[in-house]
Amino acid sequence: MIQLYQPLNFMGMVYREIKQALIDISAMFDILKQPNEISDAPDAPALIVSAGALRFDDVHFAYDPARPILRGLSFEAPAGKTLAIVGPSGAGKSTISRLIFRFYQPQQGRILIDGQDISKVSLVSLRACLGMAAQDNVLFNDTIRYNILYGRPDATEDEMRAAAALARIDKFVEVAPGGFEAQVGERGLKLSGGEKQRVAIARTLLKNPSILVLDEATSALDTLTEREIQETLEDLPRKGATIVIAHRLSTIVKADEILVIDNGAIVERGDHDSLLAQGGVYAALWNRQRAEQHAETPDQPETETP
Ligand code: ATP
Repeated sequence: MIQLYQPLNFMGMVYREIKQALIDISAMFDILKQPNEISDAPDAPALIVSAGALRFDDVHFAYDPARPILRGLSFEAPAGKTLAIVGPSGAGKSTISRLIFRFYQPQQGRILIDGQDISKVSLVSLRACLGMAAQDNVLFNDTIRYNILYGRPDATEDEMRAAAALARIDKFVEVAPGGFEAQVGERGLKLSGGEKQRVAIARTLLKNPSILVLDEATSALDTLTEREIQETLEDLPRKGATIVIAHRLSTIVKADEILVIDNGAIVERGDHDSLLAQGGVYAALWNRQRAEQHAETPDQPETETP
């Protein structure tokens, strides 16, 4: 009897595992049966990018129907121009970039690229024309080279190195063991938030997308590096629209237009000088950041930008 116990126990365990696997597979099929909001329409055409202009046309959006996040947003980010989006935490700024990438669909209104509704074109063609560097960049458990080349796998060695230099990650790579072959992520080098941001910026610069979205892309950098990368981004010959979502207003002073978002709606719009002259929400935010910066570095002159 004792001799039979072990095989019977083993068979019982195998039976339980198979049963659990069948339950998991059945649950998986249930998930697959759910309508996928962001799937393509049958025969969805490819997006054709000519200039690279982006337009929000009366966009309403809520994650949860009981709590509207965007309330009828309309704006234009023209090709070759920089549109900045600022506003208090939770105003809906990152939601705008999630909608541009079609991670979610607006409940009302349209988002257009060169006149084409992005919900009607294939997702692959949409994302091919978009590039993003964000505050929480995901790097692959692979080499620095792989992570940068992911932006454009057929780029040459020189192009990859040029992107790394523009993103100010080249000096870091020089001293990293293995250089561009250094492994990053869980099984390799642990990069700081700022180093990750610079690798992600290099990747995006290499991709050179038609429409570029920078969502707090330089927030983890020290002021000097941030300013250097900012200058690089400003000097970049951009054909399409650039959308910058920023906390630190110093990074968007030169934007062609600044939208101030509060509670899902545009409360002010204009360039830096006209918004300061209005003396409204933007001016208050600017003065607060200037005072905070002055409190941190009292030796700097008061006129220093935030
Ligand atoms: P911050 O400056 O702090 O990054 P934000 O202006 O970018 O803020 P969003 O990230 O767009 O704000 O979020 C807007 C609102 O939507 C917030 O109140 C947030 O809690 C909520 N929200 C964000 N993502 C989700 C989600 N996946 N599900 C439900 N609510 C969400």
